Amino acid sequence: MADECIFCKIASGEIPCEAVYEDEDVFAFRDLHPGAPSHVLVIPRRHIPRITDTDDAELLGKLLIGANKVAEKEGLIEKGFRYAVNFGEHGGQLVMHVHIHVLGGRPLAWPPG
Ligand code: 5GP
Ligand code: ZN
Repeated sequence: MADECIFCKIASGEIPCEAVYEDEDVFAFRDLHPGAPSHVLVIPRRHIPRITDTDDAELLGKLLIGANKVAEKEGLIEKGFRYAVNFGEHGGQLVMHVHIHVLGGRPLAWPPG
């Protein structure tokens, strides 16, 4: 756990959140400022700052499987959803703990602005 990482604190229960899914390696919770009717963040429990900082294929696979479970739990399979990973200045990653955004519940514009 990284000392000043808000997502580490959320996964450990130190900062409250609305959890949606969790297992041994993965934690998922509702985004504080939802950009869609369903907006959930899926994170590894282990602190990894950016998606390019790991080559742990098993953990990356588990993250996607966690996102799939969230999509199913949120009832997004029938109508559809989007997974997004923001990165760097242009991608707009603000929180330096890897997370997959799961967005759905309305039609989503493409390409993003
Ligand atoms: P990023 O831009 O890094 O991909 O997205 C970070 C996301 O984390 C944003 O959508 C933001 O609303 C969300 N977020 C930031 N701080 C908190 C928090 O304390 N709790 C929750 N639930 N979400 C947060
Ligand atoms: Zn962290």
